[in-house]
Amino acid sequence: MTKKILLIEGDGIGPEVVGQAKKIIQFFNENTDKKFETENALLGGIAYDKVGTPFPKETVELAKQSDAILLGAVGGLKWESLPYKDRPERGLLGIRKELELFANLRPAKVFSALADASTLKREVVENLDIMIVRELTGDLYFGEPRSVTTLPDGSRQGINTMTYNSKEVERIARVSFDLAKIRGKKLCSIDKANVIETTEMWREVVTEIGQKEYPDVALSHMYVDNASMQLVRNPKQFDVMLTGNMFGDILSDTASMLTGSLGMLPSASLGAKQPNGKQFALYEPIHGSAPDIAGKDIANPIATILSLAMMFRYSFGYAAEADKIEAAVEKVLEKNIRTADIAIASSTRVSCTQMGEAILEELKKSL
Ligand code: NAD
Repeated sequence: MTKKILLIEGDGIGPEVVGQAKKIIQFFNENTDKKFETENALLGGIAYDKVGTPFPKETVELAKQSDAILLGAVGGLKWESLPYKDRPERGLLGIRKELELFANLRPAKVFSALADASTLKREVVENLDIMIVRELTGDLYFGEPRSVTTLPDGSRQGINTMTYNSKEVERIARVSFDLAKIRGKKLCSIDKANVIETTEMWREVVTEIGQKEYPDVALSHMYVDNASMQLVRNPKQFDVMLTGNMFGDILSDTASMLTGSLGMLPSASLGAKQPNGKQFALYEPIHGSAPDIAGKDIANPIATILSLAMMFRYSFGYAAEADKIEAAVEKVLEKNIRTADIAIASSTRVSCTQMGEAILEELKKSL
């Protein structure tokens, strides 16, 4: 059956990195029995420029009709002084909310060839393979009340609210336990239960789900400040880490640096399975729109290509094809072909386009 992929290139380096993933989709279309139909949609700054909103209704409609979405990135200096509702990030947060994409899967895997690209010692990161599961629809990002107001004395006050209900915690906990079950059977839930009541409830709910439904998964809990330290001290102690929206935002970027570059890391954001079996899913690199290198054809497209591999694996059940994409990436890295962000002195330095082509070449050999 033909799968419908919605492509949202977005801003900055978005079109450049999604452009390389498109070549891979086209390759499977032309050379295998896996068939894909692609459509393009606007989101973020470019959507604001073209249609006056960072979050067009048409994009939501197209997203709902698709089997999965591949997004580049949104944002950039140009839109930073706009009112909050018009900023590119509202588009991204909006689509996550609209499709109820509550589970963000962020693998941090160190390819052997890149173990020296990390700022940490090789022995600390070599063969690292952790999965951070970040809740995406609650927490400080969406909690009410939220405001910045001017007080009677003329000073300004900002308010954001950390909120979760137990049902939201239960569903993200189950996603994490399910992943832990098929990985190393270890789950570490992150909170700040010593000082933030919301996260005390989080800890209680996760513990209860673990005891009742997943007795075979070893559950531990860690305060977020300790977790940030442990991630750089001894990251291999972790298998699956479960976090709320705010803590996950920060910890997953820390985890990303263990791997050497933001340009290497894919992610998936999954919704709930509906009764008809459909599950909304958005795949995107974890990096932003990198305005500093946009338009120069030097961005690393690997995170986006690996996001496509995750789409194949989780949305379409094409595990063999996902394996092939990942193996092609690994082969290219073993040949020391690198974009600037991961290059070492001896590397063959390539552009974004050339990296896409090198991966495609390896993929061709695998058929
Ligand atoms: P960023 O991830 O865009 O860039 C951080 C640094 O990493 C930059 O030096 C950049 O050049 C580099 N980098 C990022 N991706 C790279 C790649 N594929 N190849 C090589 N180098 C890469 O983060 P930022 O600079 O904090 O944010 C820039 C804009 O992106 C902001 O407007 C921000 O709001 C937005 N943003 C969007 C998303 C998203 O769309 N999911 C995520 C984070 C930030």
